[in-house]
Amino acid sequence: MTVEKSSDIQLSALENAMQQFDEAAARLNIDKTMLGILKQPRRAVIVKLPIQMDDGRFEIFTGYRVQHSITRGPAKGGIRFHPDVSLDEVSALAAWMTWKCAVVGIPFGGAKGGITCDPTKMSKGELERLTRRYTADLMDVLGPELDVPAPDVNTNAQTMAWVMDTYSMHARHTVTSSVTGKPVELGGSLGRREATGRGVLFTIREACKHKNIELKGARCVVQGFGNVGSVTAELLHHDGARVIAVSDVYGALYNPKGIDIPALLQHVNKTGRTTGFGGAEPMNRDNLLMTECDVLVPAALGNVIKSANAANIRAAIVAEGANGPTTTNADKILESRGIFVIPDILCNSGGVTVSYFEWVQDRIGYFWTEEEVNHRLKAIMDKSFADVLAVSLEHNCNMRMAAFMLAIKRVLDATMLRGVYA
Ligand code: NAD
Repeated sequence: MTVEKSSDIQLSALENAMQQFDEAAARLNIDKTMLGILKQPRRAVIVKLPIQMDDGRFEIFTGYRVQHSITRGPAKGGIRFHPDVSLDEVSALAAWMTWKCAVVGIPFGGAKGGITCDPTKMSKGELERLTRRYTADLMDVLGPELDVPAPDVNTNAQTMAWVMDTYSMHARHTVTSSVTGKPVELGGSLGRREATGRGVLFTIREACKHKNIELKGARCVVQGFGNVGSVTAELLHHDGARVIAVSDVYGALYNPKGIDIPALLQHVNKTGRTTGFGGAEPMNRDNLLMTECDVLVPAALGNVIKSANAANIRAAIVAEGANGPTTTNADKILESRGIFVIPDILCNSGGVTVSYFEWVQDRIGYFWTEEEVNHRLKAIMDKSFADVLAVSLEHNCNMRMAAFMLAIKRVLDATMLRGVYA
């Protein structure tokens, strides 16, 4: 294991997040030393992982785990498998998790992990061996009281089952609370799959109340039809909103009367894509964001709302289901145009909130019904929205600035109460 300091590779979406942090910290007038303590990751671990491939060769992969903060509780964050994974990316994402957990007030710090690999070119057996070796090498820094991983890009419930099993084999007993996002059969939580989209819906409901928009009949546009986008679209439809446009990587659909989302979901389950659905007209994927609507939900990629298109966004509310969909420059343009943005660290925090519920249920060994999970999620999302809105009104700033200010203040207060052990 090596501990290294990060270098500075360009990471636009993440740099944006860092800029947002800096602006919020400046408004809070934080002392420079404290600022340094809050910004720097607490620990960064790099592991070299020799894996036997199916053809008998050994390949050495590089894995990372960065724990940005453990001030408010154990570190929490996903593990991603991707060719672009680097220490810089993982470090920035770990910091993002610290602010996300603080904004919803759940008792976790922030972490992130990743392995530089191309999972599309690896067999299931190779991925299992890689996951197990990564977990075994990080055994000393992971655990229910230390750092609790979850799925992220290209990892899923099966990956978490392997992490949990490997951790448990080394611990000599079954430790279900060592990871979240597990299959329900192994201590996963009911409602986890839908949690992020459900949280997005709860924040949209509150934003509509604040902006005096009737959600029933409101025109909604959703970019991305994966875990977050499809669940958000389904729940918006269920609430009586008109989802007039959706897209995925293959294309986009438009129906001004509202798309029949349950029928579209059946089509996507059968074909794996939104295109070819009979109940809507095809539209240019890149024009989707510019569709006139009440609520726009970017739920696919980062940096999609940028200087080039921000002036053409025709939505009253932007609900950031994706992480980092709006650049800092675009944010300023949206603000000047009076568009109400529900920032990612608030809007899509339903996922980590139900991960927290999963950890709690595993630790007490008693499992809640889906209704109970959803009810508790609503309570946290509604309170968090109200908290952020109150800061935004008090400081006359937008919701993103308010969310960062609230999160940073919570971590700062916890740090001051604990004191710096020097
Ligand atoms: P996913 O892989 O399930 O779905 C992504 C969707 O985006 C797919 O439908 C894909 O076809 C679509 N897409 C890709 N490129 C596109 C493009 N150019 N135009 C339109 N659509 C495109 O991923 P997900 O889990 O739904 O995550 C989506 C976003 O939400 C990511 O930014 C992720 O970081 C963020 N997020 C996810 C969770 C979660 O719990 N899944 C939690 C918080 C944040």
